[in-house]
Amino acid sequence: MTSLPSSQPTVAQTFLSANPISAPHTLDTLADTLARALPPGVVLRQPAELVSYGYDASFLSARPDLVTLPTTTEQVATIVRLATAAGVPIVPRGSGTGLCGGAVPARGGVVISLTRMNSIHRIDARNRRATVAPGVINLDLTRAAAPYGLYYAPDPASQKISTIGGNVATNAGGPHCLASGVTTNHVLALEAVLPTGETVWLGSEDGALDAPGYDLVGALTGSEGTLALITKIVVRLLPAPEAVETLLAIYPDIASGVNTVTAIIGAGIIPSALEMMDGIVCQAVERHFHVGYPQDAGSVLLIELDGPREAVAEQRQRIQRICGAYGAREVRVARTTAERAALWAGRKGAAGTYGQLAPNYYLQDAVVPRSRLPQIMQRVAEIARDYRLTIPNVFHAGDGNLHPAMLFDRTRPGDIERVITAGTELLTACVAMGGTVSGEHGIGMEKRDALPLVFSAHDLAAMARLRTAFDPHTLFNPEKLFPTAASCVEVRDPTLLADDATHPWMC
Ligand SMILES: Cc1cc2nc3c(=O)[nH]c(=O)nc-3n(C[C@H](O)[C@H](O)[C@H](O)COP(=O)(O)OP(=O)(O)OC[C@H]3O[C@@H](n4cnc5c(N)ncnc54)[C@H](O)[C@@H]3O)c2cc1C
Repeated sequence: MTSLPSSQPTVAQTFLSANPISAPHTLDTLADTLARALPPGVVLRQPAELVSYGYDASFLSARPDLVTLPTTTEQVATIVRLATAAGVPIVPRGSGTGLCGGAVPARGGVVISLTRMNSIHRIDARNRRATVAPGVINLDLTRAAAPYGLYYAPDPASQKISTIGGNVATNAGGPHCLASGVTTNHVLALEAVLPTGETVWLGSEDGALDAPGYDLVGALTGSEGTLALITKIVVRLLPAPEAVETLLAIYPDIASGVNTVTAIIGAGIIPSALEMMDGIVCQAVERHFHVGYPQDAGSVLLIELDGPREAVAEQRQRIQRICGAYGAREVRVARTTAERAALWAGRKGAAGTYGQLAPNYYLQDAVVPRSRLPQIMQRVAEIARDYRLTIPNVFHAGDGNLHPAMLFDRTRPGDIERVITAGTELLTACVAMGGTVSGEHGIGMEKRDALPLVFSAHDLAAMARLRTAFDPHTLFNPEKLFPTAASCVEVRDPTLLADDATHPWMC
C-alpha cells in the first residue's frame, strides 16, 4: 500500500480541457472513411454535435474528435476496425450518467454511443432471462418483464436513464443489491466486439448457468470499456416477490441510524434494501418531492423487505423493535404502493435535489466494513469541518457503501482542488478502516490514482496484462482504470518491468 501523490488535483485538472492525440489529417481521413462505410446520420463530426459527448455526470470533460451512433453490432465492428487501424482511441458510451469520467474521451478519438441500440430482443419468461441491446434503459427492462411476473434486480438510483450496457461496464450496484447482489451476479452472457473488430459471445448464450472455461463475462463486467465493447447482454430475471413492505425509520442523529444498520444485519435479517439519508438530504428531498420526509431528522433509514407474506410481516415487526431499541423516534410503514413509490422517488431522486444547495457536487463512492459506519460518518463530519464543506449523505448503508456529496462551485477559484483533496482524505480513511476506494461507480479517470491505496504494483501489473491481452495498443478507453505516471508505483522486479514497459504508470 502506498500513499496518494500530492499532485492529484493537477492530474485531475489536466482533463478539464481537451487532450487529443491523433493528428488532424488522420481524423479527417477516418471521418470520411467511416461516413462512407456507415449509413447517413451515424457519424457526427461538427463541433456543436460533439460537445455533449465530452461529459458524463462527473466534473471531468474532454472533447471527442468524432462521435458515432451505430444501430447494429456489425456497424460497431466496422467502426472499431477502422478506428483501430488508424490508431485512434475508442470510447464506448451509454447514457453518460457515470460519476468517475469513464465515458469522457480523455485522449479524444471516436466516441461510440450505444444509445440507439436499445431493443429488448427477447424475454424468455420460462427460463427467467432476457436478451437486451446495450442501450436499453435499466428501468425499461423491469417494465417489460413485469407482465411476466419478473423483474431485473440491479437498480442503480440512475435506473430511469442509465443503460444496461453502462451498468454492465461499471458493474453497477443499487439500493436493492443488498440481498440480490450487484450487476455481475445477474449477467449470464455477453456479445462483445473486441479491439480486433471480431464479434464474440462470452458465457452461455442459451443460458447455462456456469459456462466452462475462463469467466470472461466476469472479466468484462466492470471493465469500464477497456477490454471490449458490449453489444448484447443476457441477464437473469427474478420472480416478483409475493409481498413487499417499506419502512422509514426516523432518528435524531446519524450515529443512531448507522448503529441500527449493523444491528439489523447482526440479527440475521437481510432486507432487500437498507438505505440511509441524513438530515440535509431529507430537507432537500422534501422541498422538491413533497413526499413526507421529516424536516427535523438527523437521519432516516429507508428499509425494504420482500418475500413470502408471513416472513415479511414477521421481519417487519423485528425490525421495528430494533429501530426503536437503537433510538428511532418513529418508524413509519408505507401503507400503499403509492406511498412506497413516493418514498423511493425521494431516495432515488436525492442527487437531483443537490442543485438547490450548490452549483456543483463531487459525489464520492467508497466502502467500509458495515461495522465501521459510525467511525467513517464521524470522519466525514470532520472532513466537512476541516475543508469548510457542506456534505450531504445518502447511501447504501447495508453495503457499507458511502456517497458523501461534497458541494462546491466550480467557478470559485480553488474549489475543485479543495473537494478533490477532501475526497482523497476520505478514501484514505476508508482504506485505513479496511474498506476500498469504490463501491459501484467504478474507477474511470477520477479514481485511478487512488488504486495504489488498495493494490500493489504486482496486482496492477496482473490487471494490465489482462487489459493488453484484449487490447495490446490500449486504444479502448485509454487513460482509464490504471494509475497515471504521477502516482506510479515503484517496481523493482525486472521481469515485471520488462513485461509492462509500455505502461506509463510503471516507472
Ligand atoms: C443521480 C445518479 C445516481 C446514480 N446512482 C447509482 C447507483 O445507485 N449505483 C451505481 O452503481 N451507479 C449509480 N450512478 C452512476 C451511473 O449511473 C452508473 O455508473 C451507470 O452504470 C452508468 O451507466 P451509463 O449508461 O450512463 O454509462 P456511461 O456513463 O455512458 O458509461 C460508463 C462506463 O461504461 C462504459 N460503457 C458504457 N457502455 C458500454 C458498452 N456497451 N460496452 C463497453 N463499455 C461501455 C463507458 O466507457 C464508461 O467507462 C448514478 C449516477 C447518477 C447521476
